[in-house]
This record gives sequence, structure tokens and C-alpha cells, in this order.
Amino acid sequence: MIPHKTLKLSVKSLRDFAKKQLPDEKLRELDEKDECPVDIVRQMCNPDQLAVQLLFVPEEYGGLGGGAFDVYCICEEMARVDLGVATSVLATFLGSDPIFVGATPEQKNLWLRRIAEEGILFAYGATEPDAGSDLGALRTTADPVMEDGKVVGYRINGLKQWISNGGIADAYTILANTPQGPSWFIVERGAKGFSHDKPEDKHGIRLSNTSALALSDVFVTPDRLVGGVEGQGLIQAQAVFGYTRVMVAAFGLGAGWAALDRAIPYAAKRIQGGGPLSEKQGYTHKLIVPNVVRLEAARAYIEETAERIDGEVEIHAGKFNTEGAIAKYMATEAGNKAAEDSIQALGGYGYTHDYMVEKISRDVRITVIYEGTSEIMEMTISRDRWQLHLKTRGQHYHEQAQKLEALHARHPNVGADAAALALHALAEVMERARVARLTRFQHILLRLGELIAYAESAGSLSARAARLAENTLNEKASRRFDAPALAAIARVFARQAADKVAGEGLRWVVGAGGLGEGEMAAFEARLGMPAIRRAQAGLVADMDYVADVLYNRVAKRTTAQAAVPAGA
Ligand SMILES: Cc1cc2nc3c(=O)[nH]c(=O)nc-3n(C[C@H](O)[C@H](O)[C@H](O)COP(=O)(O)OP(=O)(O)OC[C@H]3O[C@@H](n4cnc5c(N)ncnc54)[C@H](O)[C@@H]3O)c2cc1C
Repeated sequence: MIPHKTLKLSVKSLRDFAKKQLPDEKLRELDEKDECPVDIVRQMCNPDQLAVQLLFVPEEYGGLGGGAFDVYCICEEMARVDLGVATSVLATFLGSDPIFVGATPEQKNLWLRRIAEEGILFAYGATEPDAGSDLGALRTTADPVMEDGKVVGYRINGLKQWISNGGIADAYTILANTPQGPSWFIVERGAKGFSHDKPEDKHGIRLSNTSALALSDVFVTPDRLVGGVEGQGLIQAQAVFGYTRVMVAAFGLGAGWAALDRAIPYAAKRIQGGGPLSEKQGYTHKLIVPNVVRLEAARAYIEETAERIDGEVEIHAGKFNTEGAIAKYMATEAGNKAAEDSIQALGGYGYTHDYMVEKISRDVRITVIYEGTSEIMEMTISRDRWQLHLKTRGQHYHEQAQKLEALHARHPNVGADAAALALHALAEVMERARVARLTRFQHILLRLGELIAYAESAGSLSARAARLAENTLNEKASRRFDAPALAAIARVFARQAADKVAGEGLRWVVGAGGLGEGEMAAFEARLGMPAIRRAQAGLVADMDYVADVLYNRVAKRTTAQAAVPAGA
């Protein structure tokens, strides 16, 4: 981890660099021309210029050794500038990940040092035309070349698809099948038999180079096999998901806020129906406030996960895959919705290129696809937490709910009571799914993944609001909202989560035939439906308060009006 002062300096340098090198007109022009600004990406990764890559590289290899929290902060900031350029920088980090996790000390010293000191760009070559979400279907092969009974190298053959930096990287990590199973190899640009296709003509992130790769009898020496042992590739890829998904989560968060930060001031100036749109409740409470709330719920989960990763002795323990999946799922879905609603918030202007929200909306779309699609995230979340449900005989989420009830006793204003209702309801939905064997339906399994993500995020956000009130929040954490505002945001989200878990949980349980007609009323009571409905009291007042905070109107309202606790 780096000192807070260093992080602040890095963020400031990044902002200054972006202001100078990537103003809106330049971004629009590059987007229109479908062009990756390779020079700018190289300047960002140049040790003598912006040197943003140093944050990702451990100190022992010449980097700054940033932790997950630092990396989240920088990724959010990069995404606010442009997701295509951010993807290009991230690709070096993803590409070098197998090295970070699984390489020999000599390999690490060579390649990580080259990233830090020479600023070389990497690409991460896992996906193939027929192997996307299912990397097990990998077809690229790496056949050992033998001499005198010894492996003297490998010949790699195959195709890679959708590779970020595919056409511009200096080095590539390529996943290929060896006799012992999938393994990572390092292939340098210009290797004989190695080529890339023209850049893809994409919907968004048009400033990022994405190209297919072809490997035809590409020869590499044994020191290019990451870790020197065959068959470790999928384990190495899995090992970093917790960490890398937090980064893509930060991309969703940054892009979502970038869009909202255009919509919010726009609404204060745009006069319709005799006054600014920011004064219209039907506008703010549909297009602005719910997006702020969802993004901040995702932020809470990202920060909690990043802190937990940083608390581990070994960062890349692969331990937080499910938490990374929840963070990515919540933040990228929230980012997409925020960008989409920002177009609506700007009306016809939003639909044009000039106002940027349309570009952000196209760009952020990738975050629910790469590094694991939202559907794969739902599956990952659901499978893991299902095991936890079984292992604890259905008690896991009841126990989490009790912790939030205890938090509510200490902090009655942060929505922890409603978050607890969401978690109790979740435990009941999962238990009913177990009894009625509903996870045999894939759709139910994946919908549970969504409900789990919402309920857990509600808990995180309430806890974050409490920490802010107690002044124990991470010093590097965003302080855009003060304690009363974050508490109101947490109350709005917790109510939504409780309503969603119980309402949609009931819908899917009944829809999949998991409940008889005569059992309905009793199950609704077990879900805590009456309490969840009562907890919605004060919702509109809290949304008013959040809108007032966003538009600096708080001083004009009385505190009594503003701070109505959940369930009051
Ligand atoms: C711009 C861009 C940049 C990228 N950069 C890289 C990179 O640098 N390196 C790299 O290796 N890859 C990269 N990718 C690839 C990306 O990770 C994959 O596109 C992604 O994992 C999905 O794989 P796929 O496209 O083959 O879709 P598929 O796996 O075919 O999925 C299609 C749809 O089916 C759903 N689906 C898939 N499996 C299941 C299932 N079992 N049950 C239910 N639904 C399912 C998916 O959620 C999705 O909605 C990039 C992709 C893009 C578009």
C-alpha cells in the first residue's frame, strides 16, 4: 500500500494529465475516428512521464506497490476520463497478472521490472473464438519441442479473440494447452508466426485497441512458460479474479459517476415547466437519485472488498473471488444504468455526441461483458453463497442480519434495520429454494445471485455510513457525501434491497413451483413482508434529502424534515 499523500498526488497528476491531453473534443474526435491514442497510453505508462503503471507493480520490482484500495481509486479516476484508455492501461496489468501470481523469481524480475522501468505494454490473451465465458473450451496448443529427451521449447498454435492492446502490446501472456493442461506463455511482439488482426470496430471503448491474434508455430523457449511448470494456467487465472474484478468494478463506478456528474449540473440549468429540472421531483427521483444510491452501494462493497484484500498477507490469494464478483456485478450494472439514465436526463441533447453521456453509455457497456459477464458473476456469487447456506444449515444470512441489527442499535439512522430485513428474507428464500430443490433451475440460481449481491451491498453501505459517522472510514475513501447524506443514501438502498429480495424472491419461488397456494401467507410472513413494507415509510423524504444534497439545498430545509430514519 502507498501513503495517502502519494495516492492523492497520483490522482492529481492523472487529472492534470487528462485535462491537458484528453479534453472532451479530443476524446470525441478519437471516438469518431475509432482510434487508440497509442502515444498517450505510452506516456501514461512511461516511468519518466505519468508512470501510472508503477502503482500496479510491487516495490521489489521497481514499482510503488499499490494495494487494492489504491488501485481502485486510480481505476475509478481513469474511468472518469475515458474507459478505452483506462482499458489499455488495465490490459498491461491483466497481462502481467499470471506473471505476478505464478512466475519464477527470475521471470518476475525480468518482466515486472520491464513494465516498471521501460513502461512496456502487455496484453492478456485468454479468450478465443470458441472459448469465452468457458475457458475450459480453449483450443490453442503449446506442444513441447524435445531434444535428447529434454524440453527445449514450445510451439504455440491457435487464435485469440477480443484482446485489448492486441495490436499495440510489446509482450503478451497467452493461455495455451500443454500436455499437462492450460498454461501461460509470454510471447513478444514480432515473434515469428505471431500476428494480430486489424482493430475491431466496436460499439464503445473505441479509444482502446482490441484485436484478434493468430499464432502459427510460434516458438518460445522454456523460460517463457510462466512458473516453469505446465498445467497451472487456470489456477493462476482464477487466483487474481478477486483483485481484477475490483478494478473493473471501479471502472463501472467511475464511468457511472462521470455520466451523472454531467447530468446533475445540467438539470440545475435546464429550465422546463417554469423552473430548473433539478427542482422537479419526478425527474430527480427517477433519473438522478436512484443512480447515486446504486453507485454508492457499489462503492461501499468495492471498498469493503479492497480493504479485505489489503488485509491479507498475500494479496493474490484468490480468496475474494465471490466478493470481487459482487463488487463488479453491482458497480458495472449501476454504472450502465447511470449512464443510460443520464442520456434521458439530458433529453435530446443527451442523444447527441456533443454532450458526452452518449459516449460514456457506449463505453461503460463493456464492463458488464469483459472480465466475466454479469451472468457469469451471478453464477459465481450464487454457487459460492449457496454452499455457505448449506454449510451453515441456512443460518449464514440470518447471522449477517443479526450483525446489522446490532449495528442498528448503535446507529439507528444508517438503514441497518432494513438491510437486516433484506438479509433475513434472503435466508428464507434460499431455504425455500433448498427445500423445493429450486436451484435445479439455472434461472433461479442466477436470480439468487442478484438478490445476494443486493442484500450484501445493503449491509456494506449501512456499515460504511456508520463508519463515516464514527470517523473511522479509510482515510483514502471518497468523502463526497457527509455522514447525514450517506446515511440517507444507505436508508434508500436498504429499503430497495429488502423490497427486492422479498418481492422478487417470492416471485421466483412461486414461479418455479416452490410454494403451494395454501403456504403463501405463511411464507410471506417468514419473509418479513409486513415489516419490509413498513420500512418503506420515509423513503420519499430521504430521496428529497439526497436530491437537496446534490443541489446544495440542504440549508434551506429543516433537519427534522430531512433525517427521517427507515421504518419511522
Ligand atoms: C472490447 C473487449 C475487450 C476484451 N479484452 C479482452 C482481453 O484483453 N483478454 C481476453 O482474454 N479477453 C478479452 N475480452 C473477452 C471477454 O472477456 C469475453 O468477451 C467475455 O468473457 C465473454 O465471452 P464471449 O464473448 O465468448 O461470450 P459468451 O461466453 O459466448 O457469452 C455470450 C452470452 O451468454 C452468456 N453465457 C455464457 N455462458 C453462460 C452460461 N453457462 N449460462 C448462462 N449464460 C451464459 C453470457 O453471459 C453472455 O451474455 C474482451 C472482450 C471485448 C468485447
